Amino acid sequence: MDNQERFKSVNSRVSFPQMEEVILQQWKKEDIFRKSVEARKDGPMFTFYEGPPTANGSPGIHHVLSRAFKDVIPRYRTMKGYYVPRIAGWDTHGLPVELEVEKQLGFTGKAQIENYGICEFNSMCRQSVWKYKEQWDKLTERMAYWVDLNNPYVTFENGYVESVWWSLKQMFSKGLIYKGYKVTPHCPRCGTSLSSHEIAQGYKENTIDPSVFVKFEIDKTTMFEAKAGREIAVKAGDHKVYLLAWTTTPWTLLANTAAAVSAKDNYVLLQNGNDYLIMAQTRQVPADLGNWVTLAQFTGADLLGIKYMPLFNPHNYSILRQVFKKGTPELFEGNIDANLRYPIITADFVSMEDGTGIVHNAPAYGEVDYQAGMDNGLSFVHHVNMEGKITGNYDFSGMFVKKADKYIVAKLQEHGNILKAETMEHTYPFCWRCDSPVLYMAKQSWYIRTTEYKQQMIDGNEKINWYPAYVKEGRFGDWLRNNVDWAISRERYWGTPLPIWACDKCGKMECVGSVEELKNKLSENSLPEPLDLHRPHVDNIKWACECGGYYVRTPEVIDCWYDSGAMPFAQFHYPFENKNIMCDGRFPADFICEAVDQTRGWFYSLHAIATLVFGENAYKNVICLGHILDGKGEKMSKRRGNVVDPFTVMNKYGADAVRWYLYTASPPGNARRFSEGLVAEVQGKFLNTLWNTYSFFVLYANIDGYNPLTDKFSGELTELDKWILSELNELIKDVDNSLTNYDPTSAGRQIEEFVDRLSNWYVRRSRRRFWKSESDSDKLGAYQTLYACLTTLACLLAPFTPFIADEIYQNLVCSIDKNAPGSVHLADFPSYDKSLIDPKLEEATRLAMKLSSVGRAARAKAQIKVRQPLAYAVALVAEREYVYLAVIKDQVEEELNIKDLRFTVYNEDFDSQNYAMAEDSGYTVAIYIPLSQDLEWEGFIRDYAHRVQGIRKDLGLEIADRIILTYDGDDYAKEVISSFDDYVAKETLAQEIRQKNLRGADDATEFKINGFHVAILVQKA
Ligand SMILES: [Zn+2]
Ligand SMILES: [Zn+2]
Repeated sequence: MDNQERFKSVNSRVSFPQMEEVILQQWKKEDIFRKSVEARKDGPMFTFYEGPPTANGSPGIHHVLSRAFKDVIPRYRTMKGYYVPRIAGWDTHGLPVELEVEKQLGFTGKAQIENYGICEFNSMCRQSVWKYKEQWDKLTERMAYWVDLNNPYVTFENGYVESVWWSLKQMFSKGLIYKGYKVTPHCPRCGTSLSSHEIAQGYKENTIDPSVFVKFEIDKTTMFEAKAGREIAVKAGDHKVYLLAWTTTPWTLLANTAAAVSAKDNYVLLQNGNDYLIMAQTRQVPADLGNWVTLAQFTGADLLGIKYMPLFNPHNYSILRQVFKKGTPELFEGNIDANLRYPIITADFVSMEDGTGIVHNAPAYGEVDYQAGMDNGLSFVHHVNMEGKITGNYDFSGMFVKKADKYIVAKLQEHGNILKAETMEHTYPFCWRCDSPVLYMAKQSWYIRTTEYKQQMIDGNEKINWYPAYVKEGRFGDWLRNNVDWAISRERYWGTPLPIWACDKCGKMECVGSVEELKNKLSENSLPEPLDLHRPHVDNIKWACECGGYYVRTPEVIDCWYDSGAMPFAQFHYPFENKNIMCDGRFPADFICEAVDQTRGWFYSLHAIATLVFGENAYKNVICLGHILDGKGEKMSKRRGNVVDPFTVMNKYGADAVRWYLYTASPPGNARRFSEGLVAEVQGKFLNTLWNTYSFFVLYANIDGYNPLTDKFSGELTELDKWILSELNELIKDVDNSLTNYDPTSAGRQIEEFVDRLSNWYVRRSRRRFWKSESDSDKLGAYQTLYACLTTLACLLAPFTPFIADEIYQNLVCSIDKNAPGSVHLADFPSYDKSLIDPKLEEATRLAMKLSSVGRAARAKAQIKVRQPLAYAVALVAEREYVYLAVIKDQVEEELNIKDLRFTVYNEDFDSQNYAMAEDSGYTVAIYIPLSQDLEWEGFIRDYAHRVQGIRKDLGLEIADRIILTYDGDDYAKEVISSFDDYVAKETLAQEIRQKNLRGADDATEFKINGFHVAILVQKA
């Protein structure tokens, strides 16, 4: 050591945000991110997929959460020697983009978009996508999320679209894409579906609608199929028996194909004269319809097997009847059947609160009806066009459905199918734009038959490591087990066009899988240049069919979730370029990370597409994050005004503090609270402790000119040094393990605990070793140990808190070692030395820490000042810990300022007159309070020395400055002080001590110790 300052001096009151800004500039200037990736080019590949955010909304704190967890694993793997390229991506299609542009243009409907021109509209969408890109880039950079922003994949680019087309063609060729229906709220005037938030705006109370009790005649030949059939047949004899249902939309009765009952509720057969009805036991026949007698009782399930006659057989009215392939939305044409019968089914949605307990089911006109249609393989009758008018050749064909209601009821009355018809007031949704009544209607939709791959997706999921593990069988497993075919088409404009062309004459379909293929279709015409694979450009492409018709593109675009799920190959324009991604490590991903809502979003779309197209999984390991809540645990929302702006918090406390909080506050899968206050707490508890330890080291190392490269310690390290090195190596092992197992939270908490031990035990107990003015070997051992701890910590922390880690590393390592990499992010992850791990020593020291803390509590109870030495303490420990007494005796005695530490394994009686006691988690420490004169004097002189130190500090003396110390006081004080000259000289670096009358001396400081008067004067020597 040579009294030369080696390290940049460290301000103990650091501004973390300022420090981070400086480091950001440096990373940028030196291109550290790219270097960190390129340096590992020859290492094994570790593949990370970025779930593409959409850039047409500002980033929020939940994005910081997912990006923090996305960042930590690739950084760790890089330090472990893996090659981890990280490509950013942007999700650029979809309704949110369109809505933003519609808002800008003041549009309220699709008709306006089409009048305006799809071409112009889509080019505005293309622009709008980037509205907040700058903010996103800024956030990404500021929080040190390392991902390649310069070469991102963009889902609207032709190459990306072409890859998506290719994958759809793979599915189409396997027969996995088909056309079905989907029930949505529909405005018959605007000709479009309404989203749930649009529906919510248009409910009207007091709407007058029909209220009709309808009778469905049972086919008595089917009676004996049902449990209750025999009894009903016996009781009703030759009379007709009807199922009684109730509806407010008579127009849907034309499409009725089933009657639903509740399986476990009771139903009854009622009689009134010649009328026989079945309905729920707890529901009533309208009061004015006379007296009804109950003839029989049975459950809804007992009715299963009974069939009834259609009110209107669709085949008689030129209406197509289709039939669901059971369990799917797929429909087949039903045969013409004059004896058509519909079944009774059981369903959960049947309520005993209104109606008759028998629900008329029309799969084309209700979401639950449609679901029941799929579940039971029912008939599907759709007799209404998109304008809400009745088709076919009924008496009321061509009428708007609401107008047709009364004619339908009249017709049914004629046939004896109405028990009672009246009107009622209720709440009904209207179009918020045009005030038309909303109709729930089945609309054509394209599906991917994912159900055919359900088992394969479930089997594939078995091989995915989920963190937390319960997501595998929980949310994601549930979602797969309840898989339904994926409705991928959207009747919109800005999206990947569905590449299916159908002949306008014969209906033959072709799916186009590449631009080349499209070119080849056009024998005489060529593709427009420049080619844009969006609407309306692709809509204009047509070619002739053998039948004389023309292939015309089906107008829909696809669900943008399909786009993002195709990213594993579409980002590489596979298979048109990068043909080898399937075997060079770029597929599947080793790691992905998003929030739990993606189990139905991106996690699923990735999994489904990879399974259907490649028969493989798209990813191996997933961190699935819980939601982020405000400081009180409430959901964050603009309406509540509790949204936290990520920039505000990062600019105040630094990105490291935010990141560290997110990693350590709770395990990834849990919901976590977030607020400025919580981040401030983390900064105080963890980052400041670390920083203080670091600045303490630099301060003393610079005073002593410690050079870690040349000042090598060669003797036997102290127990304290050995202990912290043991803890350090244990920590390396644990952090490595936790990060390998995708558990940054455990890793972070282990680091936190270590920093606490380092600061509050190792450094505190080593302070004196650094103060001593001579450089002896013990001091060198302390420097070497603390240096090892800090530089290793920097490496362990690099994936978590990349700024402070690099700050420490650059100052402690790079500044003195020209051969070191220029940044901690170019360094290797530390490996641990097993020979330095000593579990017994760790256990002993942890015992010492525990007993010291319990002992301090005991002292505090007795209100004895810390500097007053006491005679002894007795600690109650476990029997196996007895052996540690010799190892920790000195430490605990020093910590508690007692002369002797004794162990006991028996719960002895300590009288409270003479002992102060405290207990914590099974450990009791009893301190003997009475003082001898020696102890009293010692307490006095320690207090005195402490005062001198305080005055040194007030005078602004350097730690190594020598002083001349003059004292005065009461006789007792003088007697005590004079008998401790050597001790005082050593403690306060006094080169000379004088006893002199200081009465009236202006520059003297006067105070009382134990009630005695003392005066001192400190002068620099
Ligand atoms: Zn409308
Ligand atoms: Zn054709």
